[in-house]
Amino acid sequence: MSDKLYTSAVEMVEVGPRDGLQNEAVQISTFDKLALIERAIAAGSRRIEVTSFVNPKAVPQMADADAVCAGLPERDEVTYIGLVLNGRGAERALATGRIDQLGAVCVATDTFAQKNQRQTSDQSVEVAQELVAMAQAAGKTGQVTIGASFGCPFEGEVAEERVVAMAEQLAKANPVEIALADTIGVGNPAHVTRLVKAVTGVIAPIPVRVHFHNTRGTGLANVWAAIAAGVRTVDASIGGLGGCPFAPSAAGNVATEDVVYMLERAGISTGLDLEKLIETHRWLTGVMDKQLPAMVGRSGGFPKPAETLKKELA
Ligand code: ZN
Repeated sequence: MSDKLYTSAVEMVEVGPRDGLQNEAVQISTFDKLALIERAIAAGSRRIEVTSFVNPKAVPQMADADAVCAGLPERDEVTYIGLVLNGRGAERALATGRIDQLGAVCVATDTFAQKNQRQTSDQSVEVAQELVAMAQAAGKTGQVTIGASFGCPFEGEVAEERVVAMAEQLAKANPVEIALADTIGVGNPAHVTRLVKAVTGVIAPIPVRVHFHNTRGTGLANVWAAIAAGVRTVDASIGGLGGCPFAPSAAGNVATEDVVYMLERAGISTGLDLEKLIETHRWLTGVMDKQLPAMVGRSGGFPKPAETLKKELA
């Protein structure tokens, strides 16, 4: 029997600079955001959600989107993603000349869609299709995230059929992938398995990406279930920061270092350097001036690298 389960490699998308920071009350400087992005690249990240082009009054933390883009390192091998909710945001993102991929968002319920982006759920699907088309027309790529795929903070349970139907519509725009987001962290592995398989069934060969928040401690189990169900791209944020300004009590994303530890130890390569992520966790703890949710970031990996052991024994 092979010691590799399901797959030998998974692609990680670093969402820390956007989803990780957007809900933080303390304004993080553009300088520190760029330092976080540079550290992520140094740790091996090749797809990074760098900012969002949204109303700065609604999300003050992202008001420096243009400045962040202007300061992005010139790295051809890195795909920079800008999150957008409407045509104006997409125009801004494309005008920076630094965004490689637009990330559109639609939401599975009307109440949350209205609060998040002043659209009905159906409108959010239409707009997301248009945003993907705008990216493609500009010679870029577009992908779509379906927010509240596993449950809504306002309407409660979300029917799986609703998410599948949205994905089927979105696939017509030919996005590079469609992400299922557990925005408020209510999903469980069995739900993830069912939904990933059902959505894959209607959008293949377009792949499914997953985006989990660890609000109720099911984040890592959900990542594992998604990979077992065929997912090969996973969102995560360094330190496990994150939340949604429009979703009450949503906690952080699954932490990049926790996911990387789990997968690498299981024989699934992520292309990321765990020690560099842990180092970045320590740095980010200082920047945020508080303990971060990530567990491996605090405890360290296992086994310890030879270099660390040598230093400790000296
Ligand atoms: Zn999120």
